[in-house]
Amino acid sequence: MAQRVSNDGLADRLGVLFPMDENLPCSEGTTLLRAFAEARPADFAFLKPGDLINLHNSAFAGILEWETFSEHYGSCELCHA
Ligand SMILES: [Zn+2]
Repeated sequence: MAQRVSNDGLADRLGVLFPMDENLPCSEGTTLLRAFAEARPADFAFLKPGDLINLHNSAFAGILEWETFSEHYGSCELCHA
């Protein structure tokens, strides 16, 4: 098994971050979130459910992968089905 952020590990985190399934990001959003998790595992570990509501958390400002995800998540209709 790979030691980097595995799909299983991400799925566990997604279950914490998105306790209600309807808030789960779409497949593209999940891919973008995984890119953030893999690029910045320490930052990803600090991500809390509230950060998905207030997407402009200054702690993550300037992190390209986070901004790409949050821009998508904030505007994607599938992510908020
Ligand atoms: Zn989406």
